[in-house]
Amino acid sequence: MPGAGGASAETFDAAGARCRVILDGWRSVSPRFVFRGYSEDVQGPFVREHLDADGKLRGPIAALLIESGDGLVLVDAGMGRFTGLGRFAEGVDAGHLRGELAELGVRPSDVRCVVITHGHADHVGGLLGPGNEPAFPDARHVIARIEAEFWGSPAAAALPDDAGVPAATALAALLDAGLLDAIEGEATAASSVRVIAAPGHTPGHVGVVVGDALLWCGDALVSPLNVPHPEWTSASDMDEPTNGRTRRALLARAADEDLVVAGSHLAVAGTIHRAGDGFELVPR
Ligand SMILES: [Zn+2]
Repeated sequence: MPGAGGASAETFDAAGARCRVILDGWRSVSPRFVFRGYSEDVQGPFVREHLDADGKLRGPIAALLIESGDGLVLVDAGMGRFTGLGRFAEGVDAGHLRGELAELGVRPSDVRCVVITHGHADHVGGLLGPGNEPAFPDARHVIARIEAEFWGSPAAAALPDDAGVPAATALAALLDAGLLDAIEGEATAASSVRVIAAPGHTPGHVGVVVGDALLWCGDALVSPLNVPHPEWTSASDMDEPTNGRTRRALLARAADEDLVVAGSHLAVAGTIHRAGDGFELVPR
């Protein structure tokens, strides 16, 4: 399987904290995934020019590595070995994060903190090593308490396609190892690394603000095409009205505070500007 191609990864200097997008891989999804209730008339004009030959939208699966004053912080960990799960099984080439880190000379034991934005497989699969042990054995793993509780619940266990298995397995392993730090509300994960509540995609989804310069939106946005109309939520959003409000609040904050916005599934990063009732992303 080919590597994810680290050469294309973006870097940011977020007020002194160097950040690098780590590509776990790529996926191709239907516009019906990016927009629930997709309509050719309503969303089509925004989407058509971005479709590939199969009518899909191709985007990255990415994590963020931050060189904080308190050591290396990783935001999410890619899919690990869980690349065959459910709706991502087709059109996904992922699980490359560990190799990408190695190419940068980063050993798993060098990572001091992992922020888990949420429990979907493409974010938590890589938290586990081949024997279901924690992949980052010397890292404190920060997650919102409500998120950890959800993925340990019967509702998560009942999700189709075993979608809850990666998170339940990873969180249990981290809890066993004493590496899980469940937070309430907002928290400072490390110097210059602020975890902020961004619920809706999942119950306890979080974003990360680095050095008042970079906003990592996790999956609050799953495509750059979500920027112009934040209220057009996605098929993967568990609570659509809440994520619609979260998107609007994050984009407004980025516009007001001149933050660069990047995220796991955004192929481009950029600044956010108000445009009519919505927003516009201007690539850096
Ligand atoms: Zn995702």
